[in-house]
Amino acid sequence: MSIKPLPFTAEQITSIAAKYPTPFHIYDEKGIRENAQRLRKAFAWNEGFREYFAVKAAPNPFLLKILKGEADFGADCSSGPELMLAEYCGINGEGIMFTSNDTPASEFVYAKKLGAIINLDDLSHLSFLENCAGLPDLLCFRYNPGPLKEGNAIIGHPEDAKYGLTREQLFEGYRIARDKGVSRFGLHAMVASNELDPDYIIETAELLFNLAVEISKELGIRFEFVNIGGGIGIPYKPEQKAMDIEYVSEGIKRKYDQIIAVSGLAPVKLFMEAGRMITGPYGYLVAQVQHIKKTYKTFVGLNACMANLMRPALYGAYHHITAVGKEDSPADMKCDVTGSLCENNDKFAIDRQLPMVSSGDLLVIHDAGAHGHAMGFNYNGKLRSAELLLRSDGSVLQIRRAETVADYFSTIDFSAMEWFE
Ligand SMILES: *Cc1c(COP(=O)(O)O)cnc(C)c1O
Repeated sequence: MSIKPLPFTAEQITSIAAKYPTPFHIYDEKGIRENAQRLRKAFAWNEGFREYFAVKAAPNPFLLKILKGEADFGADCSSGPELMLAEYCGINGEGIMFTSNDTPASEFVYAKKLGAIINLDDLSHLSFLENCAGLPDLLCFRYNPGPLKEGNAIIGHPEDAKYGLTREQLFEGYRIARDKGVSRFGLHAMVASNELDPDYIIETAELLFNLAVEISKELGIRFEFVNIGGGIGIPYKPEQKAMDIEYVSEGIKRKYDQIIAVSGLAPVKLFMEAGRMITGPYGYLVAQVQHIKKTYKTFVGLNACMANLMRPALYGAYHHITAVGKEDSPADMKCDVTGSLCENNDKFAIDRQLPMVSSGDLLVIHDAGAHGHAMGFNYNGKLRSAELLLRSDGSVLQIRRAETVADYFSTIDFSAMEWFE
């Protein structure tokens, strides 16, 4: 049946929920560490391989520190505050990939100051960067293959995407950068999101390797790295299969040997900037049932809402739900699992078969560890929940407290109300 394992027992999570009010997000440190090791080992054949964790997926400094400490992950940032987070965690210099778009000058200046690898999203950003911060020694461009590459469901067709340079612009960008004295180069593309087909990732690497060879030959420049971006999917549904990362690695190695090594371009470092697959399966949103409502359908109302996890409402995404302590009960209650936002799409699940639950039961919403808490917002006066870390030794550490009403009002100066009419 549709069982997805949990890193805690029903008793454990019940006692955690007695101490920390629900809803909260809880991350499984052991799972995150083992997964990070597995990725690092899988790509050990490539000297200089590095995963730059996409900070936007789970921008918590405790998680960044775990990833850096465990497997020397860098940080993929796209804004000033994300750069600050990386810096706080001791990730700096070329440990940071600055893959931004529509970038303000102040953020280029900051990224340059940190010595981050700057990944340009447009040809026009070359002179923009030169004017605001000066050109660095090392520069990367983001490629958009357009109709050359079929899109996937979430990211859509590359030619409709706002990201990256066309092929012609790419050649021009590297040529101008070379002529202006940039001496070190990287190449990047990110063409997938939540992709579960391993061959799609291998093909992306192949596309980039071929392009790196062509550009190198035409312009006489050397690529230090190829960054295949993020976008590796996770099995949100119980019947889906996790991507076989060793298979991906072997496939990419084969392409590397056939394309990069044969052309005499080796060594080229392989970078990736996965977010979802790094923390996604190891984070859980834990909430309590408040009301069971029966009208034309049955609604299980939680004390969490889409402000805590927006993916189901935003993309109609599936997130598996476990009723704590009822794992072995038959799932014979068909219901919508809802939040309390005044938005009808505030639902964690629609027509889901759950065991009979009642008010007070704890529900665990799976795979909320990436693009979960991070997408939180305050619409309808909803407050973001706490983030907890289930440590490898079984203890629990609060790594971000829940927002309070004071946080909600903190940006308003109520003293100005005195003279306001
Ligand atoms: C969002 C993003 C990522 C991470 O994507 P995942 O789907 O979480 O792996 C990586 N790189 C860039 C540029 C992104 O925008």
